[in-house]
Amino acid sequence: MDTNSVLAIEGGVPVNQEPWPSTMIGPEAIGDEEIAAVTAVLRSKKLFRFLDAEHSRCAALERHFREMTGSKHALAVGGGTSALICGLTGTGVGDGDEVIIPAYTYIATAAAVLICGGLPVIAEIDESLCIDPQAVEALITPRTKAIMPVHMRGYNCDMDAIMGVAARHNLVVIEDTAQACGGSYRGRRLGSFGKAGCFSLQQYKIITAGEGGVIVTNDDEVFERAALRHDSAMCFWSSAGHTVRPFAGENLRMDEMSGALACVQFSRLDGILARCRALRNRVQEGLCGIPGLRIHTPNDPAGDCGISLAMFLPTADSAKQFAQALNAEGIPCGSLYDKGIPDRHIYCHWEYVMEKQSADSSGWPWNSPLHDAGRSYSPEMCPRTLDLLGRTIMLSFSQTYEDRHADLMIAGVRKVAGKLL
Ligand SMILES: *Cc1c(COP(=O)(O)O)cnc(C)c1O
Repeated sequence: MDTNSVLAIEGGVPVNQEPWPSTMIGPEAIGDEEIAAVTAVLRSKKLFRFLDAEHSRCAALERHFREMTGSKHALAVGGGTSALICGLTGTGVGDGDEVIIPAYTYIATAAAVLICGGLPVIAEIDESLCIDPQAVEALITPRTKAIMPVHMRGYNCDMDAIMGVAARHNLVVIEDTAQACGGSYRGRRLGSFGKAGCFSLQQYKIITAGEGGVIVTNDDEVFERAALRHDSAMCFWSSAGHTVRPFAGENLRMDEMSGALACVQFSRLDGILARCRALRNRVQEGLCGIPGLRIHTPNDPAGDCGISLAMFLPTADSAKQFAQALNAEGIPCGSLYDKGIPDRHIYCHWEYVMEKQSADSSGWPWNSPLHDAGRSYSPEMCPRTLDLLGRTIMLSFSQTYEDRHADLMIAGVRKVAGKLL
């Protein structure tokens, strides 16, 4: 018997027998430039951005994000969740407001809405693996204030349709671009469509400062309100004066070490995306025409970040089996929804949303008289999302991979598909 044709999971020889390269992206790109930039900040002993505002690395990072997105304003903050909170407060979302978010996003998207006093309303995703604009429209109530499309895994949302829904119903759009920094939709950068675009620079994102985030906007008032939210004394720092009446903020600022690190990482972004896209394209071409295996199509393939390649299998069981077999071949791959693993990127595992829990005994914001007391949540409420994610397996790309790793992915998927599909 030809051992090469026996699946590794059944005792055959794995397609890949060497350690797989790191799947991290930004952190793996850290080199001497990052070390020098952070060290220079430490040597300057000026760690706080407003100490020498003119030479601030946080301010430099904001310039980079303004240029990338073509936005009038950018604000560096301490994390992606902080960026979302600033975006929500910036656009006026608060008690009594409903914000429509996708059923497939990191739990932080829902958390940010709750922290601002709003209620998350959970919409189904479609086959793009991003929020379904039709599902959004069906969920709109008189309390709906905002839509938060999330560009998951580097995939772009259908921004034409979402902006159309928002315009018809006079809603604010806040983009969660935490997982798609540098991506675009029809030639325009993600994060630049909505009233606010929110980025994360956390370890697992495309570029990183360890922790960090950025919010961009074209709107003066949104920017001013976001800045007030991000610093309890912002109204006293800024020399420009304020048109917005000050309110209590919290300290969500970015420090200069993070700013310096993020600036160097930003300079690597185009190269990282080009490499990931080349790897993704190579694998995608190599996987054409496998019966029973359908490759995901982004809303705008040209603007996809190239960090993921999702594939749909006929059933959840076949997806799970496929992922196990491919991992046994030495090719890392995940199935997205597996009832055994509480993945916080899937709404049914957001316990404090499903059970409407609060930070204290008051029950806020769920029980606010301004909210709809009848709004309820259940792990079964978005069956299409669970079905789609259950049938999805995902390959991830990093600039750490060589072409031969892409070829191993192709060989692995073809081998497993040949046996299981
Ligand atoms: C990571 C992430 C966030 C939160 O970012 P942090 O920097 O960890 O606070 C929000 N939304 C999505 C989609 C994310 O992936």
